[in-house]
Amino acid sequence: IAGRTVLVTGGAGFIGSHLVEALAETNDVRVLDDLSTGRAENLHRDATLVRGDLCDPDTLDEAMAGVDLVFHEAANASVARSVEDPIASHQVNTAGTLGVFERARVADARVVLASSTAIYGDPTEVPVTEDEPTTPQSPYGVEKLSGDHYARLYHDLYGLETVALRYFNVYGPRQAGGEYSGVITTFLEQACAGQDITVEGDGSQIRDFVHVSDIVRANLLAATTDEVGEAYNIGTGRSVSILELAELIRDLSGSRSEIVHVDERPGDIHASRADISKAKASLGFEPTVTLREGLGGLVRQP
Ligand code: NAD
Repeated sequence: IAGRTVLVTGGAGFIGSHLVEALAETNDVRVLDDLSTGRAENLHRDATLVRGDLCDPDTLDEAMAGVDLVFHEAANASVARSVEDPIASHQVNTAGTLGVFERARVADARVVLASSTAIYGDPTEVPVTEDEPTTPQSPYGVEKLSGDHYARLYHDLYGLETVALRYFNVYGPRQAGGEYSGVITTFLEQACAGQDITVEGDGSQIRDFVHVSDIVRANLLAATTDEVGEAYNIGTGRSVSILELAELIRDLSGSRSEIVHVDERPGDIHASRADISKAKASLGFEPTVTLREGLGGLVRQP
């Protein structure tokens, strides 16, 4: 896409900053971010920053003025944080997201929403299609499900062009580590420091890890598709167990770390893998980065 006035909320964060990078050369890009988990050094030099809270009406008005396309990435992206403080998480993920849709309705701007696999809870079967029942197991999942519904509703009720992308487990450069974020970053940090790699539970949980560059491609396809008012799973359609992931990361990084087991996280999801046939058929989405390639890139340049 080119020549558009685009807002990327959360554009100083992990996924948002990669999206901005892909858009900045050919579009007028604005970023709305309060730098709560995002970082100033992630900001693109050609993007304009509106620094502030998405829940503040004046800040949101300023960010949305004159925009014709919105990628809504800003959120409390941490399940753990939503469990600790559901009200704060609701504020940004549910009320904040509704605020974005409402401004977009006034401006008639397309919204591509970062939805999540968390809306499915612990799926009854894998791979998970978009028709799987939604039984979220965390406040975060409930909040993301409400955003996903608002995307559909704003299309059906107001004719707004919306697309919800249900990301599976995203990884790549600039992802934060620690207890609030991605297991891949945590394992890599542990492996590179020669510390024990801590697998929660027996490690038989399976996940569909999708590289951030594929997430960016899915967003660009969603920005132009005619198939709006729809939600799409965005993953690879492949999965790996957490124990296999720990071993792969240890091998690729040449580490001598031990793999140890620690307590399982309450409410942890056992199996998650995307059925991506809908995104393939309607958006022309194909994942391009294998887990081994993606991890190899991170080991060389974390
Ligand atoms: P991130 O924490 O790196 O990015 C979120 C960004 O939003 C940060 O820059 C943060 O500063 C900003 N932000 C948070 N609250 C804000 C507020 N009130 N006002 C303005 N800015 C605010 O997380 P991420 O992994 O890049 O996630 C991006 C989106 O993708 C989120 O909506 C998340 O729920 C969704 N998602 C991520 C994954 C994943 O595996 N990383 C999976 C599914 C869905």
